[in-house]
Amino acid sequence: MDIKNNSYFNVVFDGALIDDFKKLVLLGTKRFRYIPFLIRSIKYQRNAVVRRKKNEESGIQVPLVLAISITNKCNLNCVGCYQKSQKITNNSEFTDEEIIRIIRESRDLGSGIVFLLGGEPLMRDIFGLVSEFKDMIFALYTNSLLINDEVIGKFKKNLHILPILSMEGRN
Ligand code: SF4
Repeated sequence: MDIKNNSYFNVVFDGALIDDFKKLVLLGTKRFRYIPFLIRSIKYQRNAVVRRKKNEESGIQVPLVLAISITNKCNLNCVGCYQKSQKITNNSEFTDEEIIRIIRESRDLGSGIVFLLGGEPLMRDIFGLVSEFKDMIFALYTNSLLINDEVIGKFKKNLHILPILSMEGRN
């Protein structure tokens, strides 16, 4: 199958994030353990497109991506930190229940992908938080410092969570 030019995949993802997903599909053809997740995920994304289109017909614009900042806490203190530049004095964060409810609502409306942002999202038990959403795709933006062998093991068991690493230097 010519994934690069396959219109099915373009429809499934509304053209967004298509390149990353294509890479995942290509990887899945080489690593069999990815295949069940990829099949579930493609089915989910196809249904999400249908839900978004239905909502659009009723005048409700549903974004493909939900971006949610799940914590203000971080184990670093970068000079150019956007989060810290907000000078948030109230330390309150969404509770686990609130985050799960927001993701459920976004799933039911037809969002396909969730960006997990911080602070540093790995300061929370992210694997427990999104365990009921195995069909969705979660892009986890992390400074990577909390990733150890145990966390790598959890990523291997939770293929729906894709770590996106950023390297923060002294400047
Ligand atoms: S790692 Fe990210 S969230 Fe943490 S201080 Fe640096 S820029 Fe801010």
